[in-house]
Amino acid sequence: MSSVVSYLLLGGNLGDRVAYLQQAQQVLAATAGAIVAASAYYETAAWGVEDQPAFLNQVLAVRTALPAAELLAACLATEQQAGRERRLRWGARTLDVDILFYGQEIINTPTLTVPHPALPARRFALVPLAELAPGLVHPQLHQTVAELLAHCPDPLEVTRVKS
Ligand code: ATP
Ligand code: CA
Ligand code: CA
Repeated sequence: MSSVVSYLLLGGNLGDRVAYLQQAQQVLAATAGAIVAASAYYETAAWGVEDQPAFLNQVLAVRTALPAAELLAACLATEQQAGRERRLRWGARTLDVDILFYGQEIINTPTLTVPHPALPARRFALVPLAELAPGLVHPQLHQTVAELLAHCPDPLEVTRVKS
């Protein structure tokens, strides 16, 4: 069966953030595919809605045989297992799982946009992604992850956390 490497951004800012990230990795390994690489954890002040705790983020590379829509479903199910409640957009949450890249595919459906459209504007996503795949080329922007990071206008500092 064919498979692709997808890069997922995990993040949370409620409860035991490390425990939620570790649990998410286990759930995704069981439901999405083999985790072939995992970045360190990175802490960032909350983005968008700033009156909330800092986020802890991590990027996973997963080799998956799932079609993209099913991978998204696995990501959303992983959030549910972490007890995520959806209230306001960009609000505090135990776990968020976003698809940054799905191989080199460009996807635009009502429920899924890949590559993630906010990636170039988010240092907290680019920094852990650049740890794993600095030379990965964005299929629409034709820049590497390292180049996107070098040009990222996001002023929020991203701090590597010992793990
Ligand atoms: P943002 O997308 O700006 O990071 P968010 O992660 O807080 O915001 P959510 O409430 O977690 O937004 O997701 C809302 C919906 O976004 C999901 O149910 C999903 O259908 C859709 N979506 C579109 N593209 C993606 C993607 N690349 N990864 C994950 N979800 C996506
Ligand atoms: Ca998100
Ligand atoms: Ca999300």
